[in-house]
Amino acid sequence: MFIYLDNAATTKPCAEAVQAAVSAMTENFGNPSSLHRAGLDAQLAVDNARKIIADSVGAESSNIIFTSGATESNNLALRGICTAYGRKRRKIVASSVEHASVDETLSALEKSGFEIVRVSPRDDGNFYSADFVESCDENTVMITMMYVNNETGYILPVKETFSAVKRKYPDIITHSDCVQAYMKITFKASTLNADLISLSGHKIHAVKGIGALYIKKGIRVLPIVTGGKQEKGIRSGTESVPLICSFGAAVEKYSTTIKERFDRVSILKNHLLENISVIDGISVNSVDNASPYIVNISVGKRSEIMLHFLERKGIYVSSGSACSKGQQSGVLEQFGISDKNADSALRISMTAETTKSELDEFAKALREGIKTIRG
Ligand code: PLP
Repeated sequence: MFIYLDNAATTKPCAEAVQAAVSAMTENFGNPSSLHRAGLDAQLAVDNARKIIADSVGAESSNIIFTSGATESNNLALRGICTAYGRKRRKIVASSVEHASVDETLSALEKSGFEIVRVSPRDDGNFYSADFVESCDENTVMITMMYVNNETGYILPVKETFSAVKRKYPDIITHSDCVQAYMKITFKASTLNADLISLSGHKIHAVKGIGALYIKKGIRVLPIVTGGKQEKGIRSGTESVPLICSFGAAVEKYSTTIKERFDRVSILKNHLLENISVIDGISVNSVDNASPYIVNISVGKRSEIMLHFLERKGIYVSSGSACSKGQQSGVLEQFGISDKNADSALRISMTAETTKSELDEFAKALREGIKTIRG
């Protein structure tokens, strides 16, 4: 049995993404910077993928910079803006539930003298745009706010917040880590009112090691990697043509079915919750209107023990409060989940290809785990 329910960690590359990468490696292996035909062909393939990704967020090709993944996109967005605009304005406002690639970067910027204000959810577990606006002032250089939380699926009010912030402080630069929303929720850069958006390929069935940063026209991002001036000098280094092509192929495949897949995964989520809510000792940490792709539950037994119990049955989930290899991120606590429930949290993350019978197998194994695991 192989039931993969850890799609927020990574997804299986789709056939189209694999094929695009293989043909870029076997047939179209030139360096896009070369002046000869092989170089030009590689450049055309990169341009094609860039256009597909630009279209998907309602942007022009010139707004998209390829990176090695969303970790780099987030680093580039935060550090690149602070270097370009942060001499006088020294404050950054963020949500308190950001991914480590944002949060750790904020901590590093704090050490170099920036003031970081992390806005938490209120007691009801929700974020309110007014709280973000209240934290901003004339000294604020940027605000960063993820769209969908990777641990709980919570959808943050990015659009409302960025619009309200821009109304009051037009100079504040807005950045959103849209990794867990991309190709799952329909959005455009302009409707989010985002100046910068981070994207990752491997969460949407492309190959690992590729991401992108959308940068609105007129916003200056200084590079963190310097060299041969590829990617408009914002991210030097020979472009990974195979990975870029795989990213483009995945976006081309999935961008036309966002709504259908969302509806299908919503049905799957309901099915899952109906099945597990009858099991004693389970509580659901994800709210009803969260992204259906991510369901966070507490199971009354230590996450890691349950995770390995399920693994022995061929079912793969993630521990629900870990950012990497078992380290707790503190995000569930931010959402008001008790330490005890955070210790026993599991994250189930689906795709539209997940089946009801896979979820039934999961529920069956979970019930067995709860009965047999001691403590
Ligand atoms: N941001 C979020 C919300 C994520 O879930 C992840 C991956 O887990 C990242 C950023 C990092 O993405 P990448 O693996 O492409 O560096």
